[in-house]
Amino acid sequence: MKLELRNSLSRKLLRVVLLSALAVGLALSCAQIIFGAYKTRHLIEDDAQRILRMTRDPSTQAIYSLDKEMGSQVMEGLFQHESIRVASIGHPSEELLALKMRPPLSLPSRWLTDPILGRDQQFSIQLTGKPPYNEYYGDLRITLDTARYGQEFVNDSVVIFVVGTLRALTLGLVLFLIYEWLLTRPLTKLIDHLARINPDRPGEHKLPQIKGHERNELGLWVETANGLLASIEHNMHLRQQAESSLQRMTQYDTLTGLPNRQQLQRQLDHILEEARRLQRRVAVLCLGLDDFKGINEQFSYRTGDRLLLALADRLRALGGRLDALARLGGDQFVLVLAGFEQPYEAAELAQTLLNELETPIEVDGQRIRLHGTIGVTLYPEDGENTEKLLQKAEQTMTLAKNRSRNRYQFYVASIDSEMRARRELEKELGEALEQGELHLVYQPQVDYQQNRITGVEALIRWKHPQGKLVPPDLFIPLAEQNGSIIPIGAWVLDQACRQLHTWHRQGFTTLRMAVNLSTVQLHHAELPQMISKLLQTHQLPAESLELEVTETGLMEDIQAATHNLRSLRQSGALIAIDDFGTGYSSLSYLKSLPLDKIKIDKSFVQDIQQDEGATIVRAIIQLGKSLGMRVIAEGVETPEQEAYLIAEGCQEGQGYYYSKPLPAHEMTVLLQQSQRFDRALNSELL
Ligand code: C2E
Ligand code: CA
Ligand code: CA
Repeated sequence: MKLELRNSLSRKLLRVVLLSALAVGLALSCAQIIFGAYKTRHLIEDDAQRILRMTRDPSTQAIYSLDKEMGSQVMEGLFQHESIRVASIGHPSEELLALKMRPPLSLPSRWLTDPILGRDQQFSIQLTGKPPYNEYYGDLRITLDTARYGQEFVNDSVVIFVVGTLRALTLGLVLFLIYEWLLTRPLTKLIDHLARINPDRPGEHKLPQIKGHERNELGLWVETANGLLASIEHNMHLRQQAESSLQRMTQYDTLTGLPNRQQLQRQLDHILEEARRLQRRVAVLCLGLDDFKGINEQFSYRTGDRLLLALADRLRALGGRLDALARLGGDQFVLVLAGFEQPYEAAELAQTLLNELETPIEVDGQRIRLHGTIGVTLYPEDGENTEKLLQKAEQTMTLAKNRSRNRYQFYVASIDSEMRARRELEKELGEALEQGELHLVYQPQVDYQQNRITGVEALIRWKHPQGKLVPPDLFIPLAEQNGSIIPIGAWVLDQACRQLHTWHRQGFTTLRMAVNLSTVQLHHAELPQMISKLLQTHQLPAESLELEVTETGLMEDIQAATHNLRSLRQSGALIAIDDFGTGYSSLSYLKSLPLDKIKIDKSFVQDIQQDEGATIVRAIIQLGKSLGMRVIAEGVETPEQEAYLIAEGCQEGQGYYYSKPLPAHEMTVLLQQSQRFDRALNSELL
C-alpha cells in the first residue's frame, strides 16, 4: 500500500514550514519597514536642521542688513535642495524679507508615503545677533516636501520585503529537504518493508536497520517493531499449538491416541463417498473385548489401560491393510476395510484379528490373553451411511457376545452363514489332500487335422467326506487364498505326470497332458525346478506336458509373469494361455510372452451362433496364426460349433461334444477307441 503523495508527511511539512516562515518573514519585514519609516522621519528632520544651520548665517546677515537682494540669494541657495518647497526669512511682526515657493513634487509613491510622513514638514530657526547680546532679528522657515524621502523609503521597503520573503522560502525549502532526507525517506522504506510482512508469519521478515539511523529514535523504532513482530509470531505459534492439541483432544482418544468416534465418523464418511464413486465394498468391523471388566477387576485399571495400549499398537501394526482404525471408548475398537471384492476378505481380517488377540500380551510381568467378539457390517448391503453401518456393527457385536464369545459375526445372516461355510470348507480342504479326497479327471483334446485325441486336460475333483462333489471353481480360489494351492498343485502335477507315463507305456506314446497352473503356483520360485524333476522322474518328453495359465493371472503382474514363464519354459514344457479373451491382454504383451498355445474361452465358443461370438472366435484364431501359436477351443458342445471352428482354421477342440471329463480308466477306454478309429481311418486311406 503506497501512500498518496499529496498526503505525504514532507508535503504537509513543506506547507506548514513555508506558511510559518512566510508569516514570520512578513512580520519581520513589517517591523523593519515601520522602523524604516521612523528612521526616514528622523532623516527629514536631520536634513532640515542641517540646512537651517548652514543657511543661518547668511540669513542673519540678510535680515540684519535688511538686504532683500541677499535674502533672495539665500533663497536661491536653499532651493538647490530638491525637497524644499517653501522658504522664507522674516520677522513675525513685519513683512517677509524673502519668500520663495514651488509646487509639490509629483511622484507616484506619494499616495502611500504622504499618510506616513505627512505631505510636507515645516522647520524654522531663529536668526539672532552675536553674543553676548543675542538680539532676535527674525526666523528662517523652510517647508520640506517628504515625497523624495518617501520614495527612498518605499524602495528600501520593497527590497526588505522581497529579501525577507526569499529568505523565508529558502529556509522552508531547506527544512523540507532535511526532513525528507532524515525522516520521510527512512519512514517510506520502513513502510515498504512493513507491507512485505506476511501476516501469517510476522516474525519471518525482519525490518532492516536504516543506514545512519541505527542509534536514533528510528533505530529504536525498528528494534522495537522487530521485537514486537517476533513476539506476535511466538504467540501465534503458541496459540496454534494450543488449538491443535485441543483439536487432537477432540478428535483422538487420549489413552491410545487412536481416532475417536467423531474422527472415525468423518473418516468413514469420506471412505464411503469414495466407495460409492468407485462402486467398491466397505466393511466395518466392531471389536469388543470379552470380559474386559473382569480383567480390570482381576488385575487393576492401570493394567487394563496398558493392555488397551498394547492392543492399540497391535491393531496399528495391521495398518497397511486397514483404511481406518478407531477406539470408540472402553473396550471397543472399530476397523474399516475398503476396496475389497468378496465378503470373505472381511471375514479373513476378522479371523486375523481374533488370532492376533489370542497371542498373550505381557503387562507388568503377567501374560494376559485377550478374547474379543467382532460384529461386521458391509457397505452397501447393510447400510448406505456411516451411522447405520457403525450402529449395526456395534449391535451385531453385542448380540454375538450374548450368544458365544471369541468369534465374528456378519450383520446379514446369509453372508454370515456363507462365511461360516467357507471357513468350514477351508478347514476341511486343509485335510482333503492327506485324506485322499482329491482325484483327477481327464478331458480329451481333439486334433482337427489328425481327427483324433492328441491330448487330455487334467481337472481336479474333491469328493467331500459327506459325499458331495465340491466344484474346483469353489475350492481352488480358497486354496489360492490360504496358500494350500502349492501342495495341492504339486500333487496334481505329480498325479498327472504319473498317469501320462502310464498311458505312454500303454502305447499312447504321443499323448500330451495339459495341467492347470494357478497364478500363485506360477509365482512360486521352485516351480521350474519341480517341473524338470517331474519330467525326469516320470520319463516324459518335455513337450508332452502343457501348462495352462490363465490370462487374467498373467496380466496382474506382467513383468513377474514374463520372467517366470521364461524360466518355466526352459524345462521344455509347453505353455498355453487359458480362458483367452476374458482378460485384457494387449497384443504387445502377448508378443513378449513365451507362449505356445491360445485356448479360446468357452464363453465365446458358446456364443458362436451369435455374430459377436463368431467374430471374436475368428479374430482369436487369426491372432494365434499371426503369432505362430496353436489355437484350441474349449467348451465345444455342438457339431455347429465344431464346424465353424474347423472352417476358421482352429487346430484343436475340447468339450462335452467329445467327452465330459472322465476318470483315468474311462479315459483309457476312450483313448483306445480313438486309436482304433485312427488306425481304421489310416487303413481306409491306404
Ligand atoms: P478350466 O481350466 O477353464 O477348465 C475347463 C472347465 O470347463 C472345466 O470345469 C470343465 O469341466 C469345463 N468344461 C469342459 N468342457 C465343457 C463344455 O463343453 N461345456 C461346459 N460348459 N464346460 C465344459 P471344472 O473341471 O469344473 O474346472 C473349473 C476350473 O477349475 C478350471 O477351469 C480351472 O481353472 C480350475 N481347475 C480345475 N482343475 C484344476 C487344477 O488341477 N489346478 C488348478 N490350479 N486349477 C484347476
Ligand atoms: Ca484349463
Ligand atoms: Ca478355460
